[in-house]
Amino acid sequence: MEYNENIRAALLEKIKAAMSEKRFKHVLGVEKAALFLAERYGESKEKASIAALAHDYAKERPDSEFKQIIRDDDYDLDLLNWSNAIWHGLVGAQLVEKELGITDESILQAIRLHTTGASQMSLLDKIIYVADYIEAGRDIPGVEKARAIAKKDLDEAVAYETKHTLAHLIDINAPIYPKTIETYNRWVAKKN
Ligand code: GDP
Ligand code: FE
Ligand code: FE
Repeated sequence: MEYNENIRAALLEKIKAAMSEKRFKHVLGVEKAALFLAERYGESKEKASIAALAHDYAKERPDSEFKQIIRDDDYDLDLLNWSNAIWHGLVGAQLVEKELGITDESILQAIRLHTTGASQMSLLDKIIYVADYIEAGRDIPGVEKARAIAKKDLDEAVAYETKHTLAHLIDINAPIYPKTIETYNRWVAKKN
């Protein structure tokens, strides 16, 4: 893959223009965490950088735009019953591909799965999922523990994050997207 500081800078510029200053800082934090995890666990740093920088690219798009895409393209129409939290990665990956010209399927998949996780996750998927949770700007309760676990065992970090996100969503009576439950069953639940 062709990737260097100039290409990264051009990508950064487009991403910066698509979001608030606060979210852009988050994105840079996710890149830093993803690069650390890529080094630690042996993933391509270029892929980790690109996926991290682009993961929330679509987060500030209006609901109407996501709904339009879901209706017009080949998405499960049940997605219309969900919200930006679920759409910005799952559907947003398509905007990343079209508007940022990122075509690497492994990167697009990591972006699609970054919010909910999945029962099957590649190393890159796990890195982006976990980096999003542990980046330096996050102050979620338990994030220090998540950071410590992420340094030692990536699968355990996926489990920790999944459990705590799900517990939080239940605590606030949020609807749980089925894929989030699949992630919980694969990575957290103990089989008997
Ligand atoms: P962010 O985009 O960097 O803020 O982080 P994420 O993409 O990981 O999460 C976006 C939001 O979606 C967060 O508030 C999560 O708690 C929430 N979220 C994650 N899974 C689910 C789910 O299954 N259902 C709902 N309703 N929200 C979820
Ligand atoms: Fe996100
Ligand atoms: Fe994020």
